[in-house]
Order: sequence, then C-alpha cells, then structure tokens
Amino acid sequence: MIPFSTPGLQPEQWQHELARAFSDPRELLAFLDLDPADLPAVDFDPANPFPLRVPRYFARLMRRGDPHDPLLAQVLPTLAEHVERVGYVQDPVGDLDAVRENALLQKYHGRALAITTGACAVHCRYCFRRYFPYAEQSSLRHWQAAMKTLATMPDVNELILSGGDPLSLSDRRLATLLDDAARLAQLQRLRLHTRLPVVLPERVTRELCEMLHESRLDVVVVIHANHPNEITPELGCALAQLRRAGAMLLNQAVLLKDINDDADTLVRLSESLFAVGVMPYYLHLLDPVAGAAHFDVDEPHAKTLMTRLCARLPGYLVPKLVREIAGEPNKTPIAP
Ligand SMILES: *Cc1c(COP(=O)(O)O)cnc(C)c1O
Ligand code: SF4
Repeated sequence: MIPFSTPGLQPEQWQHELARAFSDPRELLAFLDLDPADLPAVDFDPANPFPLRVPRYFARLMRRGDPHDPLLAQVLPTLAEHVERVGYVQDPVGDLDAVRENALLQKYHGRALAITTGACAVHCRYCFRRYFPYAEQSSLRHWQAAMKTLATMPDVNELILSGGDPLSLSDRRLATLLDDAARLAQLQRLRLHTRLPVVLPERVTRELCEMLHESRLDVVVVIHANHPNEITPELGCALAQLRRAGAMLLNQAVLLKDINDDADTLVRLSESLFAVGVMPYYLHLLDPVAGAAHFDVDEPHAKTLMTRLCARLPGYLVPKLVREIAGEPNKTPIAP
C-alpha cells in the first residue's frame, strides 16, 4: 500500500483525517477500552506489510469494550492471517491475467477497470487485492497509456475507477481523470468503486459532487458496507449529496464469517442502505485470498441465508449472491 501525499498542494480536510487514522493496534484497542489480553490473537507486528489502517470516524462506530465488534473484526490484524490454507492464493480472481495495459483490466464485456491508486483509507483484512503489485500496476504513471488503450476499445462503454480506492486521490487529481475519461467518445458511464464514504463521509466534498454533476458521463458510485452499523446519519448526508449530483448509488458487501453471516444482520443492512438511498447490488462470497480463510462462509450456508433474505425482503432489497471465478465472462451468480 502506498501512503497518501499530494506534493505541492494544500491537503484537503479529509486528508488530515486520514493522516490521523489508527495504524497501531495497541492505540486502537486503548481507544476502544479493550485490554490486549481480551484479544489473544491480535497481530501486533509493527512490520506487517498490510498494517492496520482505520480512520477515527470508523473506529468511533465500533462498540467500546466489545472484542467481537463486527467493524473491529474487519480491520484488526490477527495471527489467523498467517495460517496457510490450500486454495488460498495471492491473486484469487485472476486480476493479473486480465491486465490489458498497465493499470487497465478487462475481464467483462463492455466494461474496463482502471486501477487508479494503491492507497485505501482502511485496510480490510479480507481484501482480495491485498497482494496486488500496485507499485508496478497502479495508476497514475500509467493513466495516459491506459487512456490510449481504451481509445482502441470501441465496445467499452463503461469505465470503472477502482484501486485501492479511487477517492483516496485528491479532487484535483480526480478532476483530470474524469476529464480524460469524458473525452473518450464511446464511454457512457463512469463507475467509482469506493469504500471511502463509509469509512470517512467527509471525503464526499462539494468539489467532488460538482465534478460528478458536471461530467457528461452517467455516474454510478458503488460503495462497500458490510454491516448495518456502518450506515450512519453522517454517511446518509454524504450520500444525499452524491445523489443530488446525479449519481446512482449501489452497495457491494462481502459475506464474512461472524461479521454479517446471519439473516438478521443482512436484512438490517439492506434496509439501512435503502434508507440512505443505496440499492444493494452484490453480496460477494469471499475471494480465496491468502490469509483470509478464517472469514470464509461456505456456499451451502450462504444459500440458506439467501433463501431467508428472499423470504423477508422486497425483491429489490435482496443483493445478488456472486462468486468471482477467474476466466468466467461475468461474476458467477449463486442461486439459493
Ligand atoms: C467486478 C469487476 C467488474 C464489474 O463487474 P459488474 O458485474 O459489472 O459489476 C469489471 N471489471 C473487473 C475486472 C471486475 O473485477
Ligand atoms: S477498501 Fe476495498 S480495496 Fe481497500 S482494503 Fe478494503 S476491500 Fe480492499
């Protein structure tokens, strides 16, 4: 992961907040009134190549004194990540095979995905891109080359900005990316895959909303929330601004053991998302990335959960359960 910096520019307010993010598990546990002795499996290694990273806003959503808090469990490094499991690998979804040009991935018809940065505001322990070679593939150095390649792909009408998290780029930088994208005549839609509004709602600045509003492209923002406790009034305000800017809002979640693998939690997640103007989109089965096996929910249990969701929610609030299988022409739907 690459640290934040905007050389030669005044940092924006949210960038100050990110600079203050927790990076030491001991500090986070102290903030939550937790005794390290209550959490024997925490990995305190200061040389962790994928270290703790969590903005203070998101830490404030965690329940104090609860070692099993579902938000804490998503971000706290544990020794379980060192357990090797057959089938759990560094590139579980075949991203490296899908690279068309540095930083540009095409797996699916009509859509191309640009890795715009390796930086994220939060480090999710189950992240399937935690080993992605960002330093080589990422980003801005390759952006112009990626745009040239896209210009030769007339059947791509949607560009997805991903990462890392594209909203970890400054507004000024994003404005350039949006302008470049809007100049590609075949593009109709621009999609942002981002967790930043969820972990730091103030990232949704007026400048960001204005540039999305002004773009000729139709904008889709896919946020990433896994648990209803992540849906707050602050997030609601930020999302309302994005909607006012004309963005369609969707959510993708990952099905995670002991975090959201029960029907009550998933029902509440869908209901809370709808209340802030977001439609549930995907519920992903865990990608088998090395070090994340302890988060896996098996397929039979996932299907049972889907049956319960279908019985309890209006159809439009039931996310699609999918698995990403390398080499398939789309994310693979898993029927209940
Ligand atoms: C997930 C993904 C997409 C988007 O797929 P949708 O089904 O359209 O959401 C596009 N490109 C890549 C490389 C992806 O991993
Ligand atoms: S925000 Fe997304 S890309 Fe970043 S660590 Fe979390 S899951 Fe991975």
